Amino acid sequence: MNDTYPSGVGPATAAKDDEFLPPHAQDCLGCGPGNPHGHHLQARRSGEGVDAQHVFDKRHVGAPGIAHGGAVATVVDDLFGFLLYVVGELAVTRNLNVEYLAPVRLGVPYQCQAELAQRERRKLFMNARVKDQGGLVVVTARALFLTVDVAHFGDEGAATFDMLRRR
Ligand SMILES: [Zn+2]
Repeated sequence: MNDTYPSGVGPATAAKDDEFLPPHAQDCLGCGPGNPHGHHLQARRSGEGVDAQHVFDKRHVGAPGIAHGGAVATVVDDLFGFLLYVVGELAVTRNLNVEYLAPVRLGVPYQCQAELAQRERRKLFMNARVKDQGGLVVVTARALFLTVDVAHFGDEGAATFDMLRRR
C-alpha cells in the first residue's frame, strides 16, 4: 500500500467495509507508523463513515492519568483525515471544534467514529465522537474541511502525487 495521503483518494474509495485504511504518510503525527511521537491511529471504513479503537499512552499525558486535550484533538483531526478516503476527496482542516465531555484516560481503549454530515461545494462538514468501553460519549467533535487540489501541498506534495499517478 502507498504510504502517502492521496493513495485512497478516488471515487467512493477502494476500501471495503471493515478494511483498515492506509496511513496518510509514513510520518503522519496521527497515524504514521514511522513517527515515534505519533498516535499510530488505525482506522477502518464502517459503512459511509470510519471508526478506530484507540489507546492514549503516557506520551500524551495532560493532567496525571488523563490524555492532553491537544492529543485528543490530534487523533480526532486525523480520524477526519481517514474519512476523506471514504468521501473520496482531497481536503484539509479549516476548523475543528472539540467538546471535552469527560476525561479521556491513558491506557484505556476508546472507540472513535466519524462521518460526513453535509457537503456544500468545497465544504465538507463532518462529525465525530469518542466513546469509552461502556458506550459513554466522552468527546464530540465537528470539523469543516475544504477540498483542495494537489498544488495546495507544494512541490513536495505534487511530486508525490505525480509519482502515485504513474503507478
Ligand atoms: Zn494521519
